[in-house]
Parts: sequence; structure tokens; C-alpha cells
Amino acid sequence: MADEKTKKQWTILELIQWTTHYFQNKGIQSPRLTAELLLAYTLGVERISLYTHYDKPLNSRELAAFKENIQRRIRREPTQYITGKQEFWSMTFKVTPDVLIPRPETELLVETALRLFKQPAQTADPLSGSLTLADIGTGSGNIAIALAKELKNCVIYASDISEKALEVARYNAKNLLENPDQIIFLKGDLLQPFEKPDSSQVEGLGTRSPYREGTGSSNKLKFNGILCNPPYISEKDYAGLAPEVGQYEPKIALLGGKDGLSYYRRLLSTSVGYLFTQGYLILEIGFGQKEAVQKMIERTPGLTLQEVVKDYAGIDRVVVARRVDDARP
Ligand code: GLN
Repeated sequence: MADEKTKKQWTILELIQWTTHYFQNKGIQSPRLTAELLLAYTLGVERISLYTHYDKPLNSRELAAFKENIQRRIRREPTQYITGKQEFWSMTFKVTPDVLIPRPETELLVETALRLFKQPAQTADPLSGSLTLADIGTGSGNIAIALAKELKNCVIYASDISEKALEVARYNAKNLLENPDQIIFLKGDLLQPFEKPDSSQVEGLGTRSPYREGTGSSNKLKFNGILCNPPYISEKDYAGLAPEVGQYEPKIALLGGKDGLSYYRRLLSTSVGYLFTQGYLILEIGFGQKEAVQKMIERTPGLTLQEVVKDYAGIDRVVVARRVDDARP
């Protein structure tokens, strides 16, 4: 790129143009946008400010750093892991290779939850009057944080099996929320951290705490809603994923067992015991999984299918089940 003999000075515009063509030839998606995002990141500026500094030349240190970032992208590393960030729900989330990069379609899960929970009289905890939600497999914390931002009178328990993911999620909560204490992060597999949570972790919530010793036979937390965007890729589809996804994003966040449905099986069989009567289970699903998940819900005692929501591409994306009885497993 740099012509050493003439010591050519590369301006911002020239670099955007050169890199766009280079990415195009290498089959990188959205080549111009990617070039701009990486250049802005390298220079430590907002993308928009590139446009007002088109003629500005880069110094040799900036140019070397930009080249390194171009090479990373050519090796198919996702732009978001290079820049360390991704937009979700109009907020900029920190992302690392320990967390799934939040996808735009997951905003539909948040939208669906907001529609259902903005009728507090129907859904709030009858004892405390406030909402208690769970976000299972929180990853970067995107779902929990988006909900906390919109529902101020709401406590959200967010779990993840990966401590490193929880570190990212905690950072995002502190960085993005006025009141990060609205979210309680617990480490563990699916709903397991909510079975007998350490009381110190829920201390200070007072009547907002869904963990009330002596109010029932179980120490389980109870929720008005449980949300999850579980790993749902089948083994066969996993093998065919784009290198950006298959080689760089955490396998544990993507692979849903042989048929891609194993987390739905596990979640459906356990979640009834963690929901208040009338509580919602809100799940993201993958392409073509609606029928299978619907059948599983219909076969689960205590749950009924409430609705299936399509995403903007017309794909069934979010399934809502509701707890219908008042059995206490
Ligand atoms: N909750 C995160 C998201 O929706 C992570 C999900 C996951 O790792 N499967 O993006």
C-alpha cells in the first residue's frame, strides 16, 4: 500500500477508497463501511469525522496500525472484535471474543418483552408490585441492559456460564446504565444460579427481591419473565458458518447440540418452576425452528404458547410461552 520509495502520504479519502477495493476483492461484506469503521477506530475518531477530514494524511504510526487492522479483517476476524464494540438498542456495547456479537434481530426479543411488560398490572409480582426478569446466557449483557434502560422499575437477574462473558456484561452495565444495580449478574448454567442464590447477591433489594425465604417450599427465584437467546445452531449448520462466526465467535454461544434444539429442551423443562403464574418465557429461535419449539411448548405441563413474532425479514424469530397454572414444582 505505502510506496516506500516516494514516501507517499496517504490521505483519509485515499485510504478509504483503496481499502474498499481491497476488501471487495477479498470478498469482505460491506467493504466501504468496514473500511470506514476500521479507519475511524484506528484514528480514535467517530466515523462521521472522517468525512470532514478527507484530505488529512495519516502519519506512519497510524498507517502501520491501520494496515494491521486491515490484515486482521482479511483473516476474517469480525470488525466488532477488532474495534471492540457493537451497537445494540442504540447503545455501544463492548464486545470481546468471549461474547457473542449482539445481532440486530435480537432487538425483537427486547421489543416483544417491552410490549408484554408495559402492562404492569397484569404482570408484576403480586407481592412487591415490581417486575423481576431473568436474562439467561446474557453474553455481553445486551438484552438485560436494553430492558433495564427501558423498564426503570424492574430488577433483572442475568446469568452466564462464562465468567469472562460476565465481566464484559458487568462493564457494559456500569458504562451504559444510570443504575447498574438494576441488574444482578450470576454465574452458572441456564437457570441453575437462580435455584439457591447466595442471599448476599440479592441483599438490599428489600421487597423487590424475588428471593423470599419462608414464602414457599423452595428457595428458587421467581420471575415475571424469563428471556433467552440460546445457542441454536445445529452441528450441521455450524460446520457451514461464515469464518467470521465459526472461527471467531464463541462456540458455546452458538452451538445448540446436534439438532440445534437442546437448549430449548432444557429451558422448557425447567423454566415453569421459575415463573410466577402468568409469567412469560420469551425465546429467540433460529430459521425453521418454530414448529419444533412450538411442539415442545405444547408438551410442557404448565406452559401454553402465547405468540410467535416474525422479524423484519419475515422469519419466525421470537416465541412467547406463558405459565398458565399455579402449580409449584
Ligand atoms: N444474550 C446475548 C445475545 O443475545 C448472548 C446470547 C448467546 O450467547 N447465545 O446476544
